[in-house]
Amino acid sequence: MSTLTAFYSHTSPDNPLAAASLAVEIADHSRWRALHTALDPTLDVAAYCASVARVTGMGAGYIQDNLDAITTLDELPRLRALQAELHHIDMCRLRTIDRALAVADRAYLADVDEELVRFLTPTRPNQLMPSARKIRTFISDLLLLLDDTLGPDEPDPTPPTEFYHLAFNDDGSADLSAHVDEVTGLEIDACVRKLAARENLSMAQALHRLVTGDDGVQVILNVYRATDIPDAPAYLPRVGWLNARVSTVLVERAGRERDMADAAEVSTAAYVTPADLEAFLEGRDGVCQFPGCQVDATFCDNDHTVNHGDGGPTDSNNMLKLCRRHHNLKTSGRVAYVRHGEEVIWLLGDGTWLSDTPSGPLSTESKLWLRTFDQRRQARNDRARAESQSRKVPPPPDPDLPECLLPRPRKSEPEEWLRRARISFQWREPATC
Ligand SMILES: [Zn+2]
Repeated sequence: MSTLTAFYSHTSPDNPLAAASLAVEIADHSRWRALHTALDPTLDVAAYCASVARVTGMGAGYIQDNLDAITTLDELPRLRALQAELHHIDMCRLRTIDRALAVADRAYLADVDEELVRFLTPTRPNQLMPSARKIRTFISDLLLLLDDTLGPDEPDPTPPTEFYHLAFNDDGSADLSAHVDEVTGLEIDACVRKLAARENLSMAQALHRLVTGDDGVQVILNVYRATDIPDAPAYLPRVGWLNARVSTVLVERAGRERDMADAAEVSTAAYVTPADLEAFLEGRDGVCQFPGCQVDATFCDNDHTVNHGDGGPTDSNNMLKLCRRHHNLKTSGRVAYVRHGEEVIWLLGDGTWLSDTPSGPLSTESKLWLRTFDQRRQARNDRARAESQSRKVPPPPDPDLPECLLPRPRKSEPEEWLRRARISFQWREPATC
């Protein structure tokens, strides 16, 4: 921890392996930039890729993907300038950005550019670079929110078509599958996992029990929503940020509202984590807090930073979400961590260290992003309202709302077991934030 300059760990100026790897990445990027520059727009791209493939031995599809990634980077001038300065975004991540932006309205690329620069700029020494998956999720969430502000006359996205299918295999088994909207899928999965754990059943056995008999399972799904930001998007763990329409429907289904500002202050000498604090920890951490691990916080243990046996309290400052594997790794003493506010600095077994921060909906990172987004959305909405005031009509009830989001009568159809999932609470930020 000799330097105070912010940088990603894989661009560390003090690490010879990082320097050597970065040199390879710079050369790789330069190669694709040169190939992109040499691409004559009047020629057939497929023929060009085939020609490059013949010389380099790489697949034509892979070449096309990398050239597309460079093209997309050129559409993001601020990100391109950042990349030219730091050389921190490898081709894999650039391809991810390209694919994630394939559905984006080009009118919003300036917003996307600004948010990506903020997201991919290091703020701390030895910071862990976001994975390709995390970048993809970030862009997906961002586009969802940007598309949600297209204007009052913009039609809602069509929910996914549902289907149900049973296929029999030669070995006497059968595969059962259903294509449902993501919230329904999450509810089913939560019920299956809970029953399987409670009755020590396989997931398939639990699913069978659920649909054929009285299982007595009731699960709670937490949905997080800032109440101090008008029409703020809600966040459903394992699904992510939701657009305004789905957010509103989910929150209306909530059976109970909990104040996460209060939950963050819960502290007890008991070992077991109280339910409110548990909800806050899941919302703050989002996933396992070991660097790069993506196990959802819902499935993680609560680690006492200062051991409970040594007097460590059960509160948000002394609790961290770790998956079982990384909890055991930490408990074994092969790795350790120290905390500075929300920042978690991991001391790895080989003498190196890494810095990371939580990214759940209650984390500081998400709050800042939400506020930045809200300001931009307000400005855009003001413009749109001024332009289309005369055309505005109240939106009709949405007949295509997913089944799982419609108000339901209690105890009627066989799907009753699905309704046992309850949406739990909203949250608000402390007034001091
Ligand atoms: Zn983990």
